[in-house]
Amino acid sequence: MAKKQILVIEDEEDIRELVRYNLEREGFGVLEAESGEDGLNAAAQNKPDLILLDLMLPGKDGLQVCRELKRSDDLQEIPLIMMTAKGEESDIVTGLELGAEDYIVKPFSPKVLVARVKAVLRRKTAAAAPDAGDVLSIHGITIHPGRHEVTVGGKSIDLTATEFGILHFLARRPGWVFTRYQIVDAVHGEDYPVTERSIDVQIVGLRKKLKKTGDYIETVRGIGYRIKDRE
Ligand code: CA
Repeated sequence: MAKKQILVIEDEEDIRELVRYNLEREGFGVLEAESGEDGLNAAAQNKPDLILLDLMLPGKDGLQVCRELKRSDDLQEIPLIMMTAKGEESDIVTGLELGAEDYIVKPFSPKVLVARVKAVLRRKTAAAAPDAGDVLSIHGITIHPGRHEVTVGGKSIDLTATEFGILHFLARRPGWVFTRYQIVDAVHGEDYPVTERSIDVQIVGLRKKLKKTGDYIETVRGIGYRIKDRE
């Protein structure tokens, strides 16, 4: 199998070297770009399998690069992991809403970086998200969209339409982090008044009803929610 190529867009040389060393050791090919402009060119020329994108870049910043990549018919399918500093939650939220697949906060351990890259590649090559009408099973929770019914360990759970919608949305993409806005948007359509609090309250109710399995709905602080994809 051909080596998977990872493009690293990062202005700090130390970080590029750390990333290159650790990814090459795992059998990945690594391409480097020092600026957003170079990164966009390298992405267009090489069509890498994944892009690691620093958000704090001189000139064209990471969010702008993310926006251009995710708007490009040619490049939008390339999975993208943002590299951010602590305290950049609002940028992370924006990046996720622009279509970035994941993020990692600096300073990160090489092990976590490699695991994140592999997880994103695995999720991307796995089948696309199931159709909205498909029955889903995860962590002992079974979701029947047609019947609007959820069972846990075979027992039916009584959920409101909104709780059902949230659970169904998260469960279709285990492991992916979604912002509150993305959740509201998916569940209610775009013209529903968006309040972060309303989602938080719904999640609390949902967890309570799911009892122990509710723990699989993870709060990602400052960002949003996800359903864990592994035990
Ligand atoms: Ca930087």
